[in-house]
Amino acid sequence: MKAPFKKRYIAMILSSMMALSNNANAIEVSEKAVQIAHDTIIVDGHIDVPYRVNRGWVDVTEATEGGDFDYPRAVKGGLNAPFMSIYVPASLDNSPESTQLAHVLIDQVEAIVARAPDKFAIAKSTADVEEQFEKGLISLPLGMENGSPIQGNLDTLALFYERGIRYITLAHSQSNHISDSSYDLRRQWKGLSPFGKSLITEMNNIGIMIDISHVSDDAFYQAVALTKVPVIASHSSLRRFTPDFERNMDDDMVKALGENGGVIMINFGSGFVSKAARQWRAGYTQARNAIVEAEGDESPKLENFDETYRAENPYPYSTLDEVLDHIDHVVKLVGIDHVGIGSDYDGVGDSLPIDLKDVSTFPNLVQGMLNRGYSEADIKKVLSGNLLRVWKAVEVYAAAH
Ligand SMILES: [Zn+2]
Repeated sequence: MKAPFKKRYIAMILSSMMALSNNANAIEVSEKAVQIAHDTIIVDGHIDVPYRVNRGWVDVTEATEGGDFDYPRAVKGGLNAPFMSIYVPASLDNSPESTQLAHVLIDQVEAIVARAPDKFAIAKSTADVEEQFEKGLISLPLGMENGSPIQGNLDTLALFYERGIRYITLAHSQSNHISDSSYDLRRQWKGLSPFGKSLITEMNNIGIMIDISHVSDDAFYQAVALTKVPVIASHSSLRRFTPDFERNMDDDMVKALGENGGVIMINFGSGFVSKAARQWRAGYTQARNAIVEAEGDESPKLENFDETYRAENPYPYSTLDEVLDHIDHVVKLVGIDHVGIGSDYDGVGDSLPIDLKDVSTFPNLVQGMLNRGYSEADIKKVLSGNLLRVWKAVEVYAAAH
């Protein structure tokens, strides 16, 4: 983009953010924040566009009514390298459908790019991300959420690498053939399975990042001990702010991740960010279960339970400030080099924090960091520098093995 045009463009974005700030936004965004968001590669570790598109087709290359991501909003927010989540539910574990769905979702991302090659391109390397940023294209790197599609077969792993998968979240909501899950009380492997352990080595050798979001604490420590390169948490927040929620990382784990050279990419979903949102969810589940227990799951009360419960108990959305508290705390524990962004946009429903409602709001995040005294160089590390450093280390290691 030529300089004079770019200046006008930033002024335009700024005025539209200001218009928002009069109603939806609580934070006032400066020209500097918009400029940083637009001059920097922004990598988001986890966005659930493929699953959303597959469930109910929408054209995200144009503006869309619902959801948290589409091309115009990504451009406005300065988001240009969101990892597309190839998410396969645990209900498909150990079935051929698991592998098939992963392929279908990759096809969906390829279709988005094919429909708008002037807007999007798949990124299979850090060099792709950097070159495509220079060309003004939004890169769509691929991350697989749940290793179940591998089905114990290293040829399948190699095939998914060929198709562009550059990280794998070892497990999702249930213990699978690779790893135990933080959400699953069954700890069949007490961490990683024997295959899971060999998979770590293979992923290192082939050049796929290891994502420890969702796994049990034991699996995390085993993965960090086995890997030869840094790992990522593609969309996790801190347990310190959500006590007993094992899906988030505790302080000792963050320190171990720091020593490993890895990066925790903070999940924006209110349930990941604040205790109040977790308690709300627990209350919701309890109230619903009480109806099921008393009147069975055909009870008419269940029909509009969600609406009624929400009307009586407004959802406690977390705030931009609370998200920034997570970033601050990682920095306090292990320094600025180990934190990034893993919003979970399009994956956490209507639970996103005030001021971070969709992909157009990254300038708010930047402004929040500026307000807390972060330098431009440090902000750039959080927006992409840290993740790109890890990804490059993984590329370099794989090239030599
Ligand atoms: Zn997830």
